[in-house]
Amino acid sequence: MDRISAYAYCGFDVPAEERFQKIKEAGFEKVAVWCHTDYNTHSGISEYEQFKYVREQGLKVSYAHAPTKFAPYLMNKYYGAKDAVKTHKVYLKGAKEQGVDIVVMHLPEVTKTVIDNVTEIAAFAEDVGVTLAVENLTGEAPFDELFNEVKNISFCYDTCHALMFGDTDGKMAERYMDRLVTTHLSDGDGKKDCHFMVGDGVFDFVTLAKRLKDGGYKGDFVLEAFQSAEYADISEFLQVGKQRLERIFG
Ligand SMILES: [Zn+2]
Repeated sequence: MDRISAYAYCGFDVPAEERFQKIKEAGFEKVAVWCHTDYNTHSGISEYEQFKYVREQGLKVSYAHAPTKFAPYLMNKYYGAKDAVKTHKVYLKGAKEQGVDIVVMHLPEVTKTVIDNVTEIAAFAEDVGVTLAVENLTGEAPFDELFNEVKNISFCYDTCHALMFGDTDGKMAERYMDRLVTTHLSDGDGKKDCHFMVGDGVFDFVTLAKRLKDGGYKGDFVLEAFQSAEYADISEFLQVGKQRLERIFG
């Protein structure tokens, strides 16, 4: 199924080139990447080098993550916000140049200042032709106010983050279905930000799959799980993830 995708960094310490090769070998056609040096921290390569490997393996980019380290500045009216907005614009433009259609960002929280700054970033994204999506980190209904105020922003649903706040089966995805463009799939224990393999925790993915189908969801299903002791190596981890996603969402 061509809507199933893997997050390029899945917790295994292997060279970047090998990582993209293993994702392809496991049968994924799409990969999710991280813009900026946030990604460099995990892989030792720049964001532009990773696109070289993506192309070499004939993969498509499912989405790119915006640099998270600038996000906190979006809430401060006086210090750093202008630079943070500018940085997001640079990366939106860069992502577009690399053929990326969706950029996902984290928000520190939703305040009046954050809404103003996101409004400016979302307008820029629309101009360059990139779909900008905000990812849930905390809360049960974190984006009611934001979505009310900003029309041209989309939603990225993360199961593990939602689970920490009591959403065990995709209620938040259903709530924001009209904005939903991508999903981050990983499991958890309901308490911590675990990012376990899908099926290794307590989240009800079958009910989520039904909610997505019933809601007419057209986006990708992205495996955003990280390494754990049950999996011998990156190949086994990716193969298990692919099989489980196919079985539940395929
Ligand atoms: Zn996520």
